[in-house]
Amino acid sequence: PVPVVAIDGPSASGKGTVAARVAEALGYHCLDSGSLYRLVALAAMRAGVSFDDESGLAGLAATLPARFAEGRVFLGGEDVTDAIRTEEASVGASKVAVLAEVRAALLDRQREYRHAPGLVAEGRDMGSVVFPDAGTKIFLTATAQARAERRYKQLIEKGMAANMESLLKDLQDRDARDAARAVAPLQKLPDAALLDTTEMGVEQAVGFVLDRVRS
Ligand code: C5P
Repeated sequence: PVPVVAIDGPSASGKGTVAARVAEALGYHCLDSGSLYRLVALAAMRAGVSFDDESGLAGLAATLPARFAEGRVFLGGEDVTDAIRTEEASVGASKVAVLAEVRAALLDRQREYRHAPGLVAEGRDMGSVVFPDAGTKIFLTATAQARAERRYKQLIEKGMAANMESLLKDLQDRDARDAARAVAPLQKLPDAALLDTTEMGVEQAVGFVLDRVRS
């Protein structure tokens, strides 16, 4: 089977950056599964579908015209890379993600990204649900404080407004929702390697994952 590197972890842990760099180093494809949940939320907001209309949302998820190209995310012909990163879309994503029908609708779509020579998949349930047979499983995390600080820096660098306290509160709320939900809760699997990046740079984190893949 085509090898999979599954990287799971909480919001703003840096797993997206690490996954992309690992994929580049290995020449593998990369799946940012959170984008799919964000796209469902964005499509729902635009179509006026409520975040508690489970079958309506599952319908959107099943037919989502999602496309990833050159680091950008498209919905149909539209570049929505920035639109899916707004606070509203982030909160929406974590709301639609608690719905079993939505997760089921996205399951096969995610598995379709598994092509030779390999795939690096990042999210919350890559190692548990989507690719349980992944040869490498990583749980990448950092303290909420460290994650909030990283997000704060990113926003300031982009010239956007940022408030440390509300960023921290928002991350903690989202973590709680992701960990407490009945379907695909965020958790470290017994067969996953723990990678705590609180005091670690990107290079070192990428090196850790590559060592696991090659060992
Ligand atoms: O990783 P990202 O912050 O982009 O994910 C957005 C939301 O999508 C998360 O808060 C989480 O609730 C949900 N998600 C999920 N399962 C995944 C990836 C993301 O439930 N595999």
